[in-house]
Amino acid sequence: MHRYLHYIDGRDAAPESQAWFDTHNPFTGEPWAEIAQGTAADADLAVQAAHRAFTSGAWPQLTATQRGELLRRVGDLIAREARRLAEIEVRDNGKLAEMRGQLNYIPQWFYYFGGLADKIEGRVIPLDKKGYFNFTLHEPLGVVAAITPWNSPLLLTAWKIAPALAAGCTVVIKPSEFTSASTLEFARLFEEAGFPPGVVNVVTGFGRDVGSALVEHPLVRKITLTGADSTGRSINEAAARHFKHVSLELGGKSPNIVFADANLDDAVNGAVAGIFAATGQTCIAGSRLLLLQDSIHDVFVERLLTLARSARMGDPMSADTQVGPITTRPQYEKVLSYIDTARNEGARLLLGGSAGTLPECGGGWFVEPTIFGEVDNGMRIAQEEVFGPVLSIIRFKDEEDALRIANDVRFGLGSGVWTADIGRAFRVSERLQAGTVWVNAYRAVSFMSPFGGYKDSGLGRENGAQAIHESLQTKSVWINTGAASANPFVMR
Ligand code: NAD
Repeated sequence: MHRYLHYIDGRDAAPESQAWFDTHNPFTGEPWAEIAQGTAADADLAVQAAHRAFTSGAWPQLTATQRGELLRRVGDLIAREARRLAEIEVRDNGKLAEMRGQLNYIPQWFYYFGGLADKIEGRVIPLDKKGYFNFTLHEPLGVVAAITPWNSPLLLTAWKIAPALAAGCTVVIKPSEFTSASTLEFARLFEEAGFPPGVVNVVTGFGRDVGSALVEHPLVRKITLTGADSTGRSINEAAARHFKHVSLELGGKSPNIVFADANLDDAVNGAVAGIFAATGQTCIAGSRLLLLQDSIHDVFVERLLTLARSARMGDPMSADTQVGPITTRPQYEKVLSYIDTARNEGARLLLGGSAGTLPECGGGWFVEPTIFGEVDNGMRIAQEEVFGPVLSIIRFKDEEDALRIANDVRFGLGSGVWTADIGRAFRVSERLQAGTVWVNAYRAVSFMSPFGGYKDSGLGRENGAQAIHESLQTKSVWINTGAASANPFVMR
């Protein structure tokens, strides 16, 4: 089996513990590589390297334009390696179509933020005081720790590190223990592009060991996490003790609302894409389908079931597969246990509900596309994130009722609205408590548009021009151009 080491200061580095853990292929359930099991000592080496690279050597000497050139060059290398990187990701997380699409798109993050690197401009402030010239500088925070999940490892790494590097920070990446390999391969491309050693580092291992050591490390100035809300809470508490900056992209329980005036074919497609694409393992999964009572409910559900039944489960490496395995064994068990919970709560099982046992499911961790009807929004299946191919259908009476149900949840990440009424589209978009609203669409994202959560779905925004400011701090510079000296004991 291939053995993956940490990547620190431009070199492979064996774990201080000399311990390794297996990474598994979810299609077969078999291990395929060994990953270095990091400790606080490894995290410290990586942070020290990142701090050295931030404070001395070539990186801080580069102009912003030169930093941008490096980012664009790494974008080209990612484009060159997209196919190979996608295949490594799929060996770990079982989502080929999703990973191929993502890898082809990831270079854009490096082109876009590379282009922004030399457009970070301060302001001259016309003060209310004579005799001073005042302006602002935006300076990089320092070492950024990027902690990522298993569902879209490299896409979410790109969201974090492209703006951080454009801002002039250095990074230590801690990938999910379930999907470390692709990040280690990815990091080498920065070396090939010409980034100085120590600007991009990767330490693998578990959250409780490496993740928390990064969060507690005094030289880390910012932590950016995509992960579960429970992880976000504990990181936020630890970061607060050290006054560190945080960006948290956490879970969701997103409503996908279909009004009776919608184009039903499009809405059926959108409902299926919202929950079954990527086997429901996305933070923005449209896991609560809200349907207008009676007028369209039965006909919509019938069409939805027909389309969902046609989903082909199978080998994630095959281009024909539409629904692949669940990435990790614990997640597979969690999804099945939520299906039991929903049954016990009285939701009506309309489709699926079992582990996938077809021969084309290999020996892997499959769950059938599952749909529950007659779900009450108070049930756990409607309130908690399942992170799997499980859809809850909830009836509503009118627009007001739809908004009440949609917002009656502690998360606020994505949301969908299907309607032909432009007035309703605006009204509902304004009142949905979610970081993203899609109207007659679902699951579109871009490097150019801000992404993040309301409520328990997180803090801060990734993507879009403003994202670069999450890696910067503002300095106000006052030049005395002839201010009259006054009483030194009184504030001027
Ligand atoms: P997770 O929270 O278990 O792990 C995420 C990362 O955090 C991993 O690298 C893990 O090792 C690390 N970690 C865990 N505990 C830690 C600790 N105490 N200190 C520091 N690091 C720690 O999440 P997961 O199971 O890998 O991913 C699924 C979750 O991610 C879901 O809740 C999903 O909604 C969320 N997610 C959110 C977005 C978004 O953009 N909002 C996108 C994808 C996934």
